[in-house]
Amino acid sequence: MLNLTTHHRTHTCGELSHADINKEVTLCGWVQRVRDKGGMLWIDVRDRYGVIQIVLEESSTEINCMQNAKSLGREYVIKVTGVVKERMSKNPKMKTGDIEIIPTTIEVLNPSQVPPFTIEDNTDGGDNLRMKYRYLDIRRNPVKHNLEFRHNVSHQIRNYMDEQNFVEVETPVLIKSTPEGARDFIVPSRVNPGEFYALPQSPQTFKQLLMVAGLDRYYQIVKCFRDEDLRADRQPEFTQLDCEMSFVTQQDILQTFSGLVKHLFKNIKGIEISEIPLMTYQEAMHSYGSDKPDLRFDMKLVDLTTQLKGKGFLVFDSAEWIGGICAKGCAIYTRKQIDELIEFVKKPQIGAGGLVYVRYNSDGTVKSSVDKFYTEDELKKVTELFKAAPGDLLLILCGKEKHTRKCLNELRLEMGNRLGLRKSDEYKPVWIIDFPLLEWNEEEKRFYAMHHPFTSPKTEDIPLLDSQPEKVRAIAHDLVINGTEIGGGSIRIHQKELQEKIFHVLGFTKEEANEKFGFLMNAFEFGAPPHGGIAFGFDRWVALLCGSETIRDFIAFPKNNAGRDVMIDSPSPLPDVQLKELGISIQKNNT
Ligand code: ASP
Repeated sequence: MLNLTTHHRTHTCGELSHADINKEVTLCGWVQRVRDKGGMLWIDVRDRYGVIQIVLEESSTEINCMQNAKSLGREYVIKVTGVVKERMSKNPKMKTGDIEIIPTTIEVLNPSQVPPFTIEDNTDGGDNLRMKYRYLDIRRNPVKHNLEFRHNVSHQIRNYMDEQNFVEVETPVLIKSTPEGARDFIVPSRVNPGEFYALPQSPQTFKQLLMVAGLDRYYQIVKCFRDEDLRADRQPEFTQLDCEMSFVTQQDILQTFSGLVKHLFKNIKGIEISEIPLMTYQEAMHSYGSDKPDLRFDMKLVDLTTQLKGKGFLVFDSAEWIGGICAKGCAIYTRKQIDELIEFVKKPQIGAGGLVYVRYNSDGTVKSSVDKFYTEDELKKVTELFKAAPGDLLLILCGKEKHTRKCLNELRLEMGNRLGLRKSDEYKPVWIIDFPLLEWNEEEKRFYAMHHPFTSPKTEDIPLLDSQPEKVRAIAHDLVINGTEIGGGSIRIHQKELQEKIFHVLGFTKEEANEKFGFLMNAFEFGAPPHGGIAFGFDRWVALLCGSETIRDFIAFPKNNAGRDVMIDSPSPLPDVQLKELGISIQKNNT
């Protein structure tokens, strides 16, 4: 047991038990509740460790003590000295329910206003109110437990990384704005008028420089900042577990971090994870329509183009690609259930034109929404492509191949939910590898690095950089667990010439590349070792390990969906003098 004795207290509220009966103790904490029944008065006192009951009796308690007790309100901070006694009527729901404290003194350390919501596991406070008074929200068990859970995860990460000889190094927060990636948050420099720092989107270039510096194995649990458009549950500042290693192949990286995954599942959840499989990007897109496949269930995409095209059904005949999934046991779906699925795929976020279904009834007959165009035999053949069994339902979409595969991915996940196949206590990690190096941006008519511009192409694909850059594969890897991307990284380029070449393919002039990344390319001329690494979304890791999807619940002081901190009211305008000092003039729009 921890010894938390201080000059203020001898024990914590949660630790006392039967074994402490008759001890004199001093406790500090917040008033959870006061019940005054005339002659008797009960106070529940709470601290980080639990709640304990104090009992006062009009006849036997010191007048002074009773007077103090009667003046207490919720959330007053008090210090109680008294004797631990066995309770007459025990409360099995409370950890300290066998005992209570008979006080000799009660001191008010600080009164409190009535809190704006109840500090209970189930509170009456809405989201906004709780965020405004987050320090009160954190007094509640569920929030407090999440923060303690987060601490445990970071502690376990540090244990593992330390065992593997990684050194934790802090990299700067005021850095230089670079193109690519998301938008930077910018900080004006007062002493260098007209010049700006940027906050790091990740410590990418610094960790590479640490490899040039010979540190060999680096990690950091680090804040990163991205000024992206707001989406639900996205935080403009978030935390990464950022890692880099020298003299490694991709295999070495995957092995080291498979070890971390196993370590965390074992030590945090008591779950043994077996070997983590590898899947190429191509296979993931082909079989699941996503580079983040949820492997808790099968339901792979099946290509039906040759089978169904050219049979007189115009919608299919004019489509580039036709494909589907097989929902086991769903042939009994009612018209209403099918209509719901049609509505689902037609939602603008998904964007399919419609949905064709084929019921493989349990009596062996096959019925579809396109019976007019296909014979039963033809449809039977389709069921065979899915290896479907009587009782199954085939759901078919068509259109442009890439888009249709993506729609089928959404439909697959929806069916996975409906059929209860995405179990919250099952974890299926997978490494996705061989991503394309580049992504074509149709609007800007240029390539972007799919991962980032420091990612190494596969050696055998380098010759394609000039002729077919879109075909070049990267030595990149993502860790995906249950359909969520938890981390990503790559083997890096460590030769100046190749890095220059990639900047060229990305449309940078030599001067631009030098201006933005000269420091890195210069470093490559001083003996840069081959290196590579990975970064994990730490907030996501924590949420996933706790079985939640909301990262905000695991951040002590998160921003809301509009990127605001409603507690400190930020962002906020600056006084004119301060703006002037920074050389910033704001165009005030008076209309
Ligand atoms: N810096 C990369 C990121 O933030 C991760 C990596 O390549 O290690 O996504």
